[in-house]
Amino acid sequence: MKLSASDEVSGDAHVEHAAFLVDLTLKQISQQVNGPVSRTTMCRRCHNPIGVERLKANPQAVLCRDCAAELEVQHKKKQRGY
Ligand SMILES: [Zn+2]
Repeated sequence: MKLSASDEVSGDAHVEHAAFLVDLTLKQISQQVNGPVSRTTMCRRCHNPIGVERLKANPQAVLCRDCAAELEVQHKKKQRGY
């Protein structure tokens, strides 16, 4: 039976890894608890995260504020016949 120093090192590594996993799990749990408001929704156009404030104001938003504003400008231009 061999209990060498390398066994102790790998033991420490396991502890660190476990702590990392616990940290990760806690983050995942807190994300689930916070629910839809804090979930990161990506903009369908530029794939940047849509701001939480925007999602609170408009939970159905699929575009970030910049893209929505840009599309609205383009839409208005079309309406004016440009
Ligand atoms: Zn966008």
